Amino acid sequence: MDLQQALLRAIPQVDELLHAPELEDAANLQGRAAVLGAVRAELDALRASILCGNIRTNPPHAFLVEAALKRLEQDSAPKLRRVLNATGVALHTNLGRAPLASCALEAIQAVAGGYSNLEYDLEAGARGSRNTHIERLLCTLCGCEAALVVNNNAAAVLLALATFARGKDILVSRGELVEIGDSFRIPDIMEQSGGRLVEVGTTNKTHLRDYESALKGGNIGVLLKVHTSNFRIVGFTEAVSVRELSELGKVYKVPTLVDLGSGALMEVSVYPFTDEPTVPQMLREGADLVCFSGDKLLGGPQAGILLGRRTLIDQMRKNPLARALRIDKLSLAALEATLRLYQNPLQAKEQIPVLRMLCAGVETLRIRTEQLYGQILQSGAACEVQMISQSRPVGGGSVPAQELDGFVIALKPHHISVGELESRLRYAAVPIVARIASDRLLLDVSTLEDKDFSLITDEIKDAL
Ligand SMILES: *Cc1c(COP(=O)(O)O)cnc(C)c1O
Repeated sequence: MDLQQALLRAIPQVDELLHAPELEDAANLQGRAAVLGAVRAELDALRASILCGNIRTNPPHAFLVEAALKRLEQDSAPKLRRVLNATGVALHTNLGRAPLASCALEAIQAVAGGYSNLEYDLEAGARGSRNTHIERLLCTLCGCEAALVVNNNAAAVLLALATFARGKDILVSRGELVEIGDSFRIPDIMEQSGGRLVEVGTTNKTHLRDYESALKGGNIGVLLKVHTSNFRIVGFTEAVSVRELSELGKVYKVPTLVDLGSGALMEVSVYPFTDEPTVPQMLREGADLVCFSGDKLLGGPQAGILLGRRTLIDQMRKNPLARALRIDKLSLAALEATLRLYQNPLQAKEQIPVLRMLCAGVETLRIRTEQLYGQILQSGAACEVQMISQSRPVGGGSVPAQELDGFVIALKPHHISVGELESRLRYAAVPIVARIASDRLLLDVSTLEDKDFSLITDEIKDAL
């Protein structure tokens, strides 16, 4: 006890350390508050160690100064950073969803550093609208009368429901009340819109007559159809098609909104899966409005895109909420550039990273996996290395029932646990995110770039 008291009493004052020349220099560069914070944190850590009985002599001041400087360096490093995605999940919401095509990056660069005609009509020399830059492009690509772009798809759903269902009922099938990642629940958004959620049908079966009896009795603002984008109910099921629903809606003069989530823009034959409704298809089937994300299957920036009938889009545009939910100029620039690639589907598949990853053939993946496998083997990293066939999900709430063929490299360390290896790679200078299965660390090259292979090999070797 006496030793502990003596150690605690001998902890230096904050000011004593702050006068160290290294910390005074640091304060001039990074500000006094940051240095003060680092010194306090270091002294707190020392106090905690003493109280735990981990320390028998106090460290010299120079040691504490050094530790504070190190902490300062860590604190001032960027917190939002590039990571390498070795999970094979192309649309990984926690890892930022879609990486952008290079033309989208160039478009951001072009408008971000200076002024732009964001809301200025260059022909008229007067105020314009940020929406006009991509409305025609979207209408041509998808086959619709009008388009409106907002901050994300959650905002798109909110805006549509707030515009058409405030104080009214929203009809939605019980089987479509989905929760997507991060506890975003469709029912919660609906409530925020001021509409009242009315569930029709049962979890596995909803018939047209379920909607019809609700329409007869109530004050209905919207018929909502939500694409069950991250799960499938299979077996004894029945759902009403968009065509049937929108025809019914026309009879009762109630608009049908399809929340597609994933937003496949091209015909389904272009994609490596068959099980995903596309945007043009939903519009052809008669949906009055369709909404989807910009950064899921579309492969662009975060955005919410609303397409459909001119009168409905105009009503949403005039809603004051539209101003609060608007898209920012950097995303708009990236979205326009990404959409232009879709004018030629072949070009879209080659240049949009998400589509390139998803469409990569098994043979290409085998060759690329063998490359990384060979590099890791040759490095002499202290682990067992295997290459195995393994399918990968698309992710990001898209195509839940179908996985794509591929391979993984499976690592089993000789001297440390798999969990330890996984954690060390996360702490790498460029963090590598990989998953563990059957006591192996799995690396999937489908979401990695060839240029990063040597970096990955070095990090694995170092970690082991
Ligand atoms: C992903 C998704 C959303 C939310 O889209 P964000 O762009 O993430 O806001 C809404 N509805 C469905 C069906 C989705 O899959």
